[in-house]
Amino acid sequence: LRSEPASELVMDTQCPFCSVQCKMQIIEHKVDGAQSPTYSVIPKPNLASEGRLCIKGMNAYQHVLTGERILHPMLKKDGTFVRISWEEAYELIIHKFNDIRSQYGSDAIALYGGGSLTNESAYVLGKFARVALRTKYIDYNGRFCMSAAASAGVKALGIDRGLTNQLSDIEQARCIVLAGTNIAECQPTLMPYFTRAKENGAYIIAIDPRETGTTRIADLHLRVKPGMDATLVNGLLKVLLEEDLVDRDFVQQRTKGFAELKSHLEGLDLTEIAELTGVSAETIRQAAAAYGKAPTGMVFTARGVEQQTDGHMSVRNFINLALLTGKIGRPGCGYGAVTGQGNGQGGREHGQKADQLPGYRLIENPEDRAYVAGVWGIDPDELPGKGVSAYEMLVKVHEQEIRSLFVMASNPLISNPNANLVQEALEKLEFLVVADFLMSETAQLADLILPASAYLENTGTLTNLEGRVLLREAARPAAGEAKPDWEILCELADRLGRGAYFAFSSAEDIFNELRLASRGGVADYYGITYERLRKEEGVYWPCPEPDHPGQKRLFETSFPLPEGKALLTPVDNHLPKEQASPEYPLYLTTGRILTHYLTGVQTRKSHSLAARDVESFVEVHPKTAKKYRLDEEALVKLESRRGVVYVRCRYNADIREDTVFVPMHWGDTQNVNKLTLDALDPTCKMPGFKVCAVNVSPFVSE
Ligand code: SF4
Repeated sequence: LRSEPASELVMDTQCPFCSVQCKMQIIEHKVDGAQSPTYSVIPKPNLASEGRLCIKGMNAYQHVLTGERILHPMLKKDGTFVRISWEEAYELIIHKFNDIRSQYGSDAIALYGGGSLTNESAYVLGKFARVALRTKYIDYNGRFCMSAAASAGVKALGIDRGLTNQLSDIEQARCIVLAGTNIAECQPTLMPYFTRAKENGAYIIAIDPRETGTTRIADLHLRVKPGMDATLVNGLLKVLLEEDLVDRDFVQQRTKGFAELKSHLEGLDLTEIAELTGVSAETIRQAAAAYGKAPTGMVFTARGVEQQTDGHMSVRNFINLALLTGKIGRPGCGYGAVTGQGNGQGGREHGQKADQLPGYRLIENPEDRAYVAGVWGIDPDELPGKGVSAYEMLVKVHEQEIRSLFVMASNPLISNPNANLVQEALEKLEFLVVADFLMSETAQLADLILPASAYLENTGTLTNLEGRVLLREAARPAAGEAKPDWEILCELADRLGRGAYFAFSSAEDIFNELRLASRGGVADYYGITYERLRKEEGVYWPCPEPDHPGQKRLFETSFPLPEGKALLTPVDNHLPKEQASPEYPLYLTTGRILTHYLTGVQTRKSHSLAARDVESFVEVHPKTAKKYRLDEEALVKLESRRGVVYVRCRYNADIREDTVFVPMHWGDTQNVNKLTLDALDPTCKMPGFKVCAVNVSPFVSE
C-alpha cells in the first residue's frame, strides 16, 4: 500500500548553480510515519532555459535541505568549533574589528565576497566596506570568473554585459565560435540553442585544447595549445584581412583603430602562428573563411580564454573578430562571455570589486564618487580609494598588511591560485570570519563562522548571463539561526555606529537604493522594480526608466564610447608566463565538470552529484600516459613549481599530448590550485589558471 503525502510544500525558485538561472519547483512531501521528507523537482518554463534543467538543477535541493548546514554562529575554541549566540558573535566581531582598526588602521580589515550573492547582498557588502568599515580592501571570487571579459568589454565596446544579445539570437547565427567554453557541462540547458543553430545551418568552430561535450557538436575543433588563444585569433584576423572578408562599411562607420590593427596583422606570419598555437595554417584558414563568409555569426568566450595572464587582451582579440566582420549589434550576431557563477553578472555590477561602485561606477572617478556618495548620504571624501584584486589581497594578508578577513559566500582557499601560499596567509590572520551556509575548507580555518541562509531561503535579484535581472523569492524559512547575508551586514554596521546608512528592512528596500545608485551608470537598473520583476520574466539592463522595456540587444546603432565607435586593438602574440621545461614537461589546464560547481562546497554535499564524481582526476592522453607509466584509474602525482597533488588517472585520446586537465572542485591533496601559477593579467588581475607547467608520475606511497 502506498501512503499518501500528509503535506506538501511547493517551492518556486531558480537553480543556483550557473548563470542561466533555470526556474524550477521543488516539492517537499511529508508522509505520515516517514522519518524524513522526500523531494521532487519540476523544471518550470522560462525564457532562458525554456523549461529545461540539468543534473545539477535536478539535485540542487540536496545540499540545502539534506546536507550538513551551518545552523548557528560557531566560535573556534582550542581548535574546535563551539556554538555561541548571535549576540556573542556580533560583540566579538565588533571588539576585534575595533581593536584591529585602532592598532593598524581601517585598511587592516578586508572583505572577500562572492558571485553567488544576490545583487542586494553584493550591494550591501560593497557599501559596508566603504561606509561602515571604511576599508579600501574589498574584492570577490568573480575576479576569477569574469574580470578579463569585463575589462575587455568596457575598453572595446564601452559596456561589460555577458552577452551583447539575447539567447534567442543564437539560432539565427550561421557561424558560431565557441572559445574556451564548455557549455555542455557548465551551462548544459543552453546547448539546445546551439544544436538548433546547427540545424538551421550554422557552422560551429570550437577552440579548446581538449575534447568536451561542447567541442563534440563543432564542425571544426581547433585544439589550441593552452594559453595561445590570442595568437590563434591573430591568425584568424590575418586571414580575414588577406581574403578581404572585412566588413569595410561597418569598420569605417562604427569602429576606430583599423589602420593600427591592419598594419599589426600584416607584420605577422601565419606559419609562425600555426607553430606557436599547434593549429595548422590550413585549419586557421578554414575557420576564418567559415566565420568571415557567414552572413551572421557569434563569438563566445569563457574561462578557457579569460583565465590567462593575457586574458584581457585575448578577449579583446575575440572582440576584434566580431568588429572586423561587422558581426555585432544585429540579429544572429554578437559577442558573449558565458558567465559561470549564479550571479556572476550582477555580482560584478554593484560594488564588490576593488575598483567599482554600484552601477559600474568607478571608485577613482570623481564624478562617480560624488554621485554614489550623494545617494549614500556621505561626503565623497569619506569614500576609501581603490583596493587590490582578490589574490593580491591574500598576498597582503600573507605580508600581514591585512590582519582580518571577512569572507562571505566564498571559498578562497580552493579558488585562488598558489593555494599553499593562500593557506599560509589565512593561517596568519588575527581574525578570520566566514559567513556561509555550508562548511568550506576556508571556514575550517576561521575563528568565527556565521550561518548564512541558502538560496531557497533568500529573497533577492540575480542577473543572468544575458544581463536579464530576475527576482528569486524566498521559498521557505531559514534553517536554524541562519540569516540573509545582507541582514548580517546591516546588524554589524549598526553596531559599528553606522546603522543610519543601513536601515534596510527587506531585500526590496536595498534594491530600491541600488536602483538609485546605478541610475545613469553603465549598468542602469533604475527602471527595474520588484513589481515589474514579479510580472515580467526578468528585465534586461540598461533600463533607465520604469516604462523602458530594457535593452535586449546592445550596440544596434552605436557603442557607448567616444564618437559612438567601438575600438579595434592590435594584440601581440603572447606566450604563457610559464613554459614547459625538462623538469616540468607538460601543460596543466583546469576547469569544471558536469556534476560540480565552483570549489565543490555545495555540489560535494549533494549526495547524488557527489556520487557521480566522488573524487578528482587527471585527464591524460594515452600516449602521454604510456610515456610516463601512468595506468588508467591509478593514482598519479602531479607536481609544479608550487606544489603537489594526487589524483586518479583518466585516459582521453582527444586531449593534446602535451596537456593534462584536472578539475577545480576539490580541496586538500586534490586541490589543483596548489599547482597553478599566481602571475596576474596586468589589466584585470586575472590569474593564469589555465596554464602552468607540471610533471606527472605514478603515485608511490612513502
Ligand atoms: Fe540550469 Fe545552470 Fe542549474 Fe543546470 S546548473 S539547471 S543549466 S542553472
